[in-house]
Amino acid sequence: VIATHDIRLGIDMGGTKTEAVVLRRLSSAPFEELARVRRPTEAQRGYEHVLEGTATLIEEAARAAGLAELPLIGVGMPGNVTEDGLSKNSNATCLNGRPFRADLRARLGRPIAFANDANCFALAETVLGAARGARVAFGAILGTGVGGGVVIADRGVPKIWDGLQGVAGEWGHIVLEPETGPLCYCTRRGCVERFLCGPAIEAAYAAKTGEKRPLMEIASRQESDPAAREVIDRALEVFGRALAAVIGVLDPDVVVLGGGVSNLDVFYTKGVEAVRRWVFSDTLRTRIVKHQMGDSAGVFGAALLP
Ligand SMILES: [Zn+2]
Repeated sequence: VIATHDIRLGIDMGGTKTEAVVLRRLSSAPFEELARVRRPTEAQRGYEHVLEGTATLIEEAARAAGLAELPLIGVGMPGNVTEDGLSKNSNATCLNGRPFRADLRARLGRPIAFANDANCFALAETVLGAARGARVAFGAILGTGVGGGVVIADRGVPKIWDGLQGVAGEWGHIVLEPETGPLCYCTRRGCVERFLCGPAIEAAYAAKTGEKRPLMEIASRQESDPAAREVIDRALEVFGRALAAVIGVLDPDVVVLGGGVSNLDVFYTKGVEAVRRWVFSDTLRTRIVKHQMGDSAGVFGAALLP
């Protein structure tokens, strides 16, 4: 049996699966992974099912790590909470309008730290990954949606800055083309996300050519296919404009890119050039780098919350 001192448990609630990791802080290395377990989220089976499934997974992870009691717990999940602590903007829609945070704390009888998944990504990359050592880091997710999180080192310890409304870092819904841009689920038109997420790039290519191709294939056709090049160039231009706006406000030391679209190498060459064209500065010293934690960023970031 291992004492729970210096041990933390992270939960990453995704659209399809929920993952748990148990980490022990070591003096020799940042962390040792004691256990990792996962289960399907099954949001379609309703609120009580997700609540009980999450609680059970936490208990199962602690047991798998050989812990006699529950350690410090952090949970990363999509969306946010209202002033009254009710979940909102979650793509697991059965959580919306429900006091998931309070209910999970009550079910397990202990405090639990929560953050949204983009903030967990930014925290994990700042503590353990591509933005290590940054005083201020911006974690930008370009995946099926576009999100982001801000991490600021407080006396050397990186902390999430989520802001008054909890929307700090949410650059995906900065509006670039309010009159003519594509309609967004947030009710506005022309949000950054509508140009920059994977599905938006694929849709732009399909609209231009009448052919449906996956993102990576479009990216690989840039040399041979003018439509592919145009679509990618358009995304890079939006990326440059939007990220320059973020840099204008936050001026972070490092921007870490995550999500499927961030695997396109062109974001680190022509993408950075586009940011340089739009940023309010003669030089761009901001490091714009690829994620290092891969799919584990969410669950590690959650474990770093408490
Ligand atoms: Zn929007």
